[in-house]
Amino acid sequence: SKVTKESILKRAEDLDVKFIKLQFTDVFGTTKNVAIPASQLEKALDGDVMFDGSSIEGFVRIEESDMYLKPDMNTFSLIPWQSEYGNVARLICDVYNPDGKPFEGCPRNVLKKVIKEAEKMGFSMNAGPEAEFYLFERDENDMPTTDSRDYGGYFDLSPVDLGDEVRRAIVTSLMGMGFDIEMSHHEVGEGQHEIGFKYAPALTTADNVVTFKFVVRKIAMQYGLHATFMPKPLFGKAGSGMHTHQSLFIKGKNQNAFYDENAKYQLSKTALYYIGGLLGHARGYSAITNPIVNSYKRLVPGYEAPVYIAWSEKNRSPLVRIPARRGMGTRAELRNPDPACNPYLALAVMLKAGLDGIKKKTDPGDPVNLNIYHLTGKQKKDLNIKSLPASLSEALDELEADDVVRSALGPHVYENFMTAKRIEWDEYRTQVHQWEVDRYLGIY
Ligand code: GLU
Ligand code: MG
Ligand code: MG
Repeated sequence: SKVTKESILKRAEDLDVKFIKLQFTDVFGTTKNVAIPASQLEKALDGDVMFDGSSIEGFVRIEESDMYLKPDMNTFSLIPWQSEYGNVARLICDVYNPDGKPFEGCPRNVLKKVIKEAEKMGFSMNAGPEAEFYLFERDENDMPTTDSRDYGGYFDLSPVDLGDEVRRAIVTSLMGMGFDIEMSHHEVGEGQHEIGFKYAPALTTADNVVTFKFVVRKIAMQYGLHATFMPKPLFGKAGSGMHTHQSLFIKGKNQNAFYDENAKYQLSKTALYYIGGLLGHARGYSAITNPIVNSYKRLVPGYEAPVYIAWSEKNRSPLVRIPARRGMGTRAELRNPDPACNPYLALAVMLKAGLDGIKKKTDPGDPVNLNIYHLTGKQKKDLNIKSLPASLSEALDELEADDVVRSALGPHVYENFMTAKRIEWDEYRTQVHQWEVDRYLGIY
């Protein structure tokens, strides 16, 4: 049944909701919210709740600061933990200008625009992200540490796995918010975890990532722990990725456009061109899928994170892996994104890159079913295998040079992102790091 204003008002009343959080995401992926009492819900559903856009990073200047929140009614959900002041629900919103037009700095609007473009080409995107995270102890002042007191590894079973109970609590809360959880397990790193949830259309998936991170952090806190989605919190240990499985479906039909029973690899031309686009624009979109200085500490050989731009049906070292599943489950797994990304922008640029591959019939080349970490420089050169950007600075230069990726973001997001990220890089670049002192102080 279709969700309407009336049905939400009724549900809120039936569930005895006292407060509603109106959520949206800034350009850098931080979730913002304003809480309203239930008495204001009708007004909110009419899109009449206003806020000061100039106080949100990457939004607008003081002179033009009034913005409106327009809730997406499909995102109404009860927040499944108790507050002593009554039940709380949330709605995810799009941001609108006072003139009633969608605000182009709103990341959710950016993704919607690329989804429309896909629809015009006859496709809808499904995506399934795998956001890994670490659970760390808090110290006596309640500040997060990088100590996990956990010596578990991949798939280890409790009691070695201290995260067991917390993970169960997280999974239970997520299910309470309508998530279809597929599995949860200890990851490779000590204190590292993964919880898998079902793929969905791109917009729902971006919303889900936002909710997922919020729930994981909140529940970890209730257990006195700190959950972090920082891409590489510990030198020499596994980083946290957000591999994104993606496929195109034929719009309006329940049919996977990537599957062709009779083709080589059973992958359709559409699939191969999409992969071609993902590979061809990888250097251009890395700044969005891997947006912080620390992101590039993860993209190094030896930790199951990608470094080289290639695809494979088997191996986990290239950028794009094609899982064995065929038929409806035919998909490409893009392995460079990390969970520090803004999921709306990240999905927008991935989809845009794939669509561009289809438009230009970009040949992805042959799959590389070797461990690329072990290839020599010459072998990589002969196979024409390029690397992902090695730093945020390099990634920003590449974004600047990629018109297709830039057009997915639109000028507003692009300019604001670029300016802030250049400053972030400069702040980092001008620091004197402990490594330098340790290495150089004595010898020079
Ligand atoms: N943690 C690895 C990464 O940084 C991925 C491990 C896996 O294959 O799940 O991408
Ligand atoms: Mg994993
Ligand atoms: Mg994976």
